[in-house]
This record gives sequence, C-alpha cells and structure tokens, in this order.
Amino acid sequence: MSINILSEQLASQIAAGEVVERPYSVVKELLENAIDAEAGAINIDIREGGRKSIQIADDGCGIPAAEIETAFLRHATSKLQTVDDLAAIRTLGFRGEALAAIASVSQVTIISRAQGDASGTRLTLEAGVKNGRETVGAPQGTVIAVENLFYNTPARLKFLKSQRTEKRLIDELVTRYALAYPHIRFRLTHNGRITFQSNGSGHVLDVLVEIYGPEIARQLLEIRDWRTRPEPAEGLEIEGESPITDHRLPITISGFIGPPSVHFARRDQIVLFVNGRWIKDGRLTYAVIQAYHTLLPQNRYPLGILFLELPPEDVDVNVHPTKTEVRFRGDKAPFGLVQRTVRETLVQDAPLSQMRTWPAGSQMETGAPGWGGEPDFASPPPQGELGLDWPDTAVPPPPGNDAKTAVPESQLPIMRLVGQVGGRYIITEGPDGLFLIDQHAAHYRVLYEQLQAQMAAGEAERHLLEGGTAVSLTADQSALLDQHQAQLTALGFTLEPFGPNTVMVRAVPVVTAGCDAAGLVTAVMLALERGRRLSPDELVESLLRTVGDTAAVAPDHSLTSDEMERLIHHLEQCRDPFTDPAGRPTFIYLSVAQLAREFGQI
Ligand code: ADP
Ligand code: MG
Repeated sequence: MSINILSEQLASQIAAGEVVERPYSVVKELLENAIDAEAGAINIDIREGGRKSIQIADDGCGIPAAEIETAFLRHATSKLQTVDDLAAIRTLGFRGEALAAIASVSQVTIISRAQGDASGTRLTLEAGVKNGRETVGAPQGTVIAVENLFYNTPARLKFLKSQRTEKRLIDELVTRYALAYPHIRFRLTHNGRITFQSNGSGHVLDVLVEIYGPEIARQLLEIRDWRTRPEPAEGLEIEGESPITDHRLPITISGFIGPPSVHFARRDQIVLFVNGRWIKDGRLTYAVIQAYHTLLPQNRYPLGILFLELPPEDVDVNVHPTKTEVRFRGDKAPFGLVQRTVRETLVQDAPLSQMRTWPAGSQMETGAPGWGGEPDFASPPPQGELGLDWPDTAVPPPPGNDAKTAVPESQLPIMRLVGQVGGRYIITEGPDGLFLIDQHAAHYRVLYEQLQAQMAAGEAERHLLEGGTAVSLTADQSALLDQHQAQLTALGFTLEPFGPNTVMVRAVPVVTAGCDAAGLVTAVMLALERGRRLSPDELVESLLRTVGDTAAVAPDHSLTSDEMERLIHHLEQCRDPFTDPAGRPTFIYLSVAQLAREFGQI
C-alpha cells in the first residue's frame, strides 16, 4: 500500500478516540468550554444517556461570527498562544481538540453570539463537515447540541456502555463541577427531568446540600487554610517530609470533609480539585484516607471535597488528553500537606463524642503505658478521705487499631485564658474555638507527666519539709513501706521510721510541694496496699497516678489568673494533653464552626 496523508476528517476521527470516548467525555469537554467562557449559568440536557443528544447552553462570552468555523478545526484554541503559556495553564481547555473531535463523530448544531455582536450565528456540521450557516437572533452565549454520537463510527457505537452508567457518570461530573464553581448556576436534565441543579450562590456548602442533602451537609467540617493556622509544632512530621518546607509551599487547601461518622463503601466521595480542575490522583486520595486512620470502620471511606490551589507553573495538566491527571512539578506533591490538613481539621473541629476517642487512640500509638488490657490503676483513694468527691469511673479508652500510623502527635494550640466557671472549669480560647478545661484532670495530667519525666531522668526531685511531718501507719503498712523504700525514694519521697507504726516525712516530690504531705503519703500507702499483686512496673505506674491525682488541684478550688495561666501553659506542653492518665477528658472543645452549627447558623 502506498503512503497517504490522512484526510483532515479521518485524522480527526482517529484523534477523537482519545478525547471523545463516550457521551460522558463529550459532556465533560463542552462543560469545560462553557466554564472557560466564564458562564454564569449552564444548562445541560441529556437524552438517552447522551447517545441521542447532548445539549449544553451557556451565557458565557460566546464565539465571534468570524471565528465560529475555526473553532471546529483541530488545534484551534483561543486559550494558548505560545509555548510559554503551556507551562502555566489557567483554563480547563487548551488543546484545541474537543470541538473538532466531537464534530467528526456526530451531528453538531451550534448557535453562538459573542459579547458585543449584534446577532448570533447558527452553524451545522455533519461528521465534521459544515452543511449550514445562518445569522440568527440569539442571546449572548453558546448553545451546542451534539446529536447521534458515533453514528458514523459503528464500531464505537457497539462498545458504548449502558445509558444508566453514562447517566451516573454525567451526574457525578456535573455535581463535581458545580462544587468547584459554586458561583455558576448549573442545571442538569435527563430526558427532560431535572436531576440536579445548583443555585450559583457562590457557597460550596449550598452545592453540598444539593448533592448530599441537608442532613449530611450540616455535619461536614470546613477545611481552613493551613497557612492561617499556627506553625506546626516540632515533631509534626509525616513520612519524612518537613512540615516547614510544606508550610512554605505556595499551596492552599480548602474544602469540606465528613466527620468520621459519615462513611461510604467506595472511595469516590473523596473529590479532588487542583486549580479548579477535577482530578483523579490515587496518592492524594490515599492521603485523605490515611488522615482518618483508626477513625473509620474497616473498608469504609470518608467524604472529602478538597480544593488545592497552587501556582499553575507548579502543576502539569498536559499529561493525558482527558486532562484528569496532573503531575506536580519537582517534589511539590502536596501529599503530606493534604494528610496533615485533613487530620488537623478532624481534630480541631471534631464533635465532642469524637474528641474523646481520638486522643485515646493516639495515646496507644505513641506507646504511653497503661493501656491495652493492663489493669486499671486509676482508682482514687477512698471517697471522703482526702476530700475527693468524684466517683471512680475511669473510662478506659476504646481499643485502638494496632497498625502504626503516620499521624502527628497530638498538640494543643496556644490558648488565651478567659476565666473559671463553677470553681472547677477553666475557660480558654484557641484559634478556632473555646476549651472548657477540667482543672483537676488537667493538673493531674501535668503532674503525672512531670513526675514521669523526672523519674525517667533518674530520681524525682524532692522538696524538703521543714521539721518533717509525722504520719501514723498500720503494722501492715509499715511492712509495705520497708519493702518499697527504693521506689518511694525514686518517686521523690524521703520517709524515715519514727517510732512504732509511725513514719516521718522529710521530703515529698517537688511537683507536689505545697500540698498536704500527710494526705499524700496516706494515699501512697493505700496504693501500696491495693497494689500487692502488681508487677514492679505496674506498681510504679500506680504510684505515679496516685501522686498526680492526689496532688492535683481539687475540683472546688478557685484559682488565680496566674495559676490558671501556668496550668494551661503546662498542659500545652504535655505529650498527651487530651486526657488525664486515667483516660478521662481534660477538656471539652467547642469549635466556632460547631457553635455556629449548634446555633443553626450554617
Ligand atoms: P479548547 O477548549 O482546548 O480551546 P475546544 O475545541 O474545546 O478547544 O474549543 C475551541 C475554541 O472554541 C475554544 O478555544 C474557544 O475559543 C471556543 N469555544 C468553544 N466552546 C465555547 C463556548 N461554550 N463559549 C465560548 N467559546 C467557546
Ligand atoms: Mg475545550
């Protein structure tokens, strides 16, 4: 066979295979054109799953009469002028292929009137060949109807999927674009019936209500721009990426995510946009899933609508003709940033019920002692004895997932003191909401970690008591004391025999200085009695908790502003600030978003 140059028409048909696979892809290309034309309203009308006809009407800039034929030539585009433009694409289209490709495999009618033109033009094409043109009256914008798709390529027609599949994909596509362009009013009809519409209000949440219904939409958590939040604390590293480097990337992430209580069987409710383009990216999708680690049931996936904005030159959209994949230039893949941002949002904004489980889960992962089926050491001393009046209801955290996770250690934001309520709760304000801190639980956590740290470094520092304090013991307790002198010394106590069944307290752990030394030693003796069957490690843990719990500020004790400031400051520095060592929450967090929800304002 001799070598021929393909006719323009045949070349277009071959090229069409890449761009226009199916009705869905036609809708996608036409929708992108309407968005690029800066339409304020777009109506999409589909017949028979797009096989019979696809009609898209927009009120965008329109095509000038003199250019309407050109628009249907291959490689004709108004969106790119030079090679340099390709490096920084700001429009959805740029390849100049779609109209040519679509027209070559269908019958097209287009009516368009450009801004400033007195009248519109109506053009008809059959298999890419013009067969009619007239000047018509028309509103500004473009209406394009694509009929009998693939009528001239029977092989393609045979492989078309069912109308239902096509409808589902088109519904998904239009809702995705409605999310990315909330200021555009979309209306989608299938065989004359409206299946989706958005109001063009500019609020993503309004579109989410249309898609998911008010019930789910109300629960969604808004992602705040990472860069508006405080610098991540040291140690907030994920998968070896430096948070500082990420922090400086000119990337913003916004959008909405579902709370852990909203989950799906498939991961297709994780929707990603890069610079207004809906993309598919397995790694970024996985980053979102990872952020929900331990929070979702097995094989269930979260909801997340994420908008990433980055300089167009940092992302390559020209990877594939369908433009649904992107490549991040250099090492700029915002994987860690996405994961961290989603996790942050979950933690910062989680409703109370989730707030309690999350920190416990993270405690397991950071290997804090005391969880995971070990006995509960948290019993406070008998009621009345030391003026402690809360019931012994240590709630062990729920069983965690044993898989390791790359999630940052929990940290509290810097807080501002507001005041004290009921003589036992401290109110503070964080960057995005308010904290109600249980002063006893918080102080218990602080003392426990301070004492633990000192013991890990050798012996706890002691505070000498002038003159000493005598404490009487039972015979049994005296024997226990002899047996456990070493542990008590390590804990910061100096206890000397002082006549029969009496001990002289010479020093107490420095972190407990100022509290009732006799009461403290009595509590420790009771703990020794209760802990007879514990292993040495377990006994130390039990003593640490007893000292922390006993020495912590009582729930009915009013504090000065200075004391509260100091307590908050110390709590911020704790490794596990979210619960006391017995697993009770140290605070309840109310985000501003949650308050607004509670007040019915969003
Ligand atoms: P691309 O979108 O890659 O530029 P297309 O083949 O999809 O290529 O469209 C070719 C050109 O036709 C566009 O660059 C644009 O100038 C014009 N065009 C297509 N659709 C519209 C529309 N709905 N409104 C205004 N102009 C349009
Ligand atoms: Mg296009």
